Amino acid sequence: MDNIKIKTDAELSQELLEVARNGGTEAPFKGKYWDNHEKGMYKCAVCGTELFSSDTKFDSGTGWPSFTAPANLANVEVRPDKKFGMDRTEVVCKKCGAHLGHLFNAGPADKGGKRYCINSVCLDLETAEKKN
Ligand code: FE
Repeated sequence: MDNIKIKTDAELSQELLEVARNGGTEAPFKGKYWDNHEKGMYKCAVCGTELFSSDTKFDSGTGWPSFTAPANLANVEVRPDKKFGMDRTEVVCKKCGAHLGHLFNAGPADKGGKRYCINSVCLDLETAEKKN
């Protein structure tokens, strides 16, 4: 059994609540991680599950943190999203159900061609220093 603690609505910031629980999107080029290049593991800001490694992060130019693949496929779910009349693929934390962002076929071709476009507010970067 996974030992995870899922934060309640009251424990989330207004912005995280809006994105993770209501499927919102943070403004581009404003989040804390879109231009971050530190090494480490990006964890779910709602439940702490390991989602994306900095090893797969790349500069997409979109203003959101972008990754070519999840750190662990067991932790990240993708599903169709037809909201707002668009045909997109939603990216969700499999452990807590938090909305994380969307998946696009716009990543580097030599790394699989996928771009996991993730909202900074949904992530907590655990660097090596932070862990120790
Ligand atoms: Fe989560």
